[in-house]
Amino acid sequence: MMQALPVMVVDVPLLRWNMDTILRRCREWNISPVAVTKGCLADPVLIETLWKQGFRSFADANFKSLLSLRKRYGMTAQLQLIRLPMKRELKEIVETGIIPHLSHVEVLNEINELAGKKGKKAQVFLTVEGGDGREGFLPDELIDVAKFRNNWAHIKIIGMSLSLACLSGVLPDREVLYHLLTWRDELSRRMEEPSLLLSVGGSTFLPLWEQGHGIEGIHQIRLGEAWLLGTDISRKKCFSWLKQGAFTLQAEIVELRRKKVNDKEEKGFNAFGKVVESSSGSYRKRALLAVGAQDIDETQLYLQEENAKIIGVTSNYLVLDVEDCAHNYHPGEVMEFEAGYGTVMRAYLSPFMNRVYHY
Ligand SMILES: *Cc1c(COP(=O)(O)O)cnc(C)c1O
Repeated sequence: MMQALPVMVVDVPLLRWNMDTILRRCREWNISPVAVTKGCLADPVLIETLWKQGFRSFADANFKSLLSLRKRYGMTAQLQLIRLPMKRELKEIVETGIIPHLSHVEVLNEINELAGKKGKKAQVFLTVEGGDGREGFLPDELIDVAKFRNNWAHIKIIGMSLSLACLSGVLPDREVLYHLLTWRDELSRRMEEPSLLLSVGGSTFLPLWEQGHGIEGIHQIRLGEAWLLGTDISRKKCFSWLKQGAFTLQAEIVELRRKKVNDKEEKGFNAFGKVVESSSGSYRKRALLAVGAQDIDETQLYLQEENAKIIGVTSNYLVLDVEDCAHNYHPGEVMEFEAGYGTVMRAYLSPFMNRVYHY
């Protein structure tokens, strides 16, 4: 039977190689890796591969994904919720021993109360804002949190966490690390907890270790993009010691024609509110592929064929300009693209995307 299209082909041996390499490097650097699974919606095949290679620590932004991991692997898996929790999740977080990252004293109070009722000690991370302008206690607030510590008999603060480069693209450097270590030490002192862990993420922190030595005082790194794609999108770089190209999108050309875009002064936006640039005025060969905006992120798709250009995407089609390609494409032909993070995530979300694993 012919493979149904569109399809995301997953190279499992390549991913296994990335996982092994990360585990080995992290051992050398004396830091423990946490596999972030939100990029593939905690896909059972990929999680099982992580597990078999030796990962025992996982983090996800979606509580449901973590619950399914808990069900599958029991308490041997260490699970972190890396999106600040919603009120309605707190009870189950405590019951299932999932470690939340927190940034409000009120939430710590509530978790303490819930853990007390259950006779449990809840482990939590305090998250700190490091300049990316998203979640976390401000550094001054964080240090001040220590004054409440006696209220939290049922909480164990296991460490402090920081995320960078996810929103505004602030990149981690030695200066950021220096501040982080200073805040951690001050928090440790005030909390009278000498061994607070320091957890950083995501993959964009890895270059700090690439020179080949450990960084005193950082214990944990949370990685998603690195094991899935071998890339550091915040720096638009590939990790030379990891492999790229684990995910390949295949989609079929359903129309191929020379077309001319109407040359009008006033142009609107496409269905998704974006301006689509196209060379208007002249006839260009366009390929329409049967894959849509719900299945892919057209800005994170990479073609082998250098001279083809992605024009844009609608709900129905991915549109390419193939005028300058040496190859003579025809309708019915299947085109291949390397998928970046956004496309991998959509491919796992979309009910219309088929998935095939190569072992
Ligand atoms: C997504 C996320 C990560 C992982 O980031 P990658 O760039 O995929 O490695 C780490 N920490 C937090 C809090 C995240 O939200």
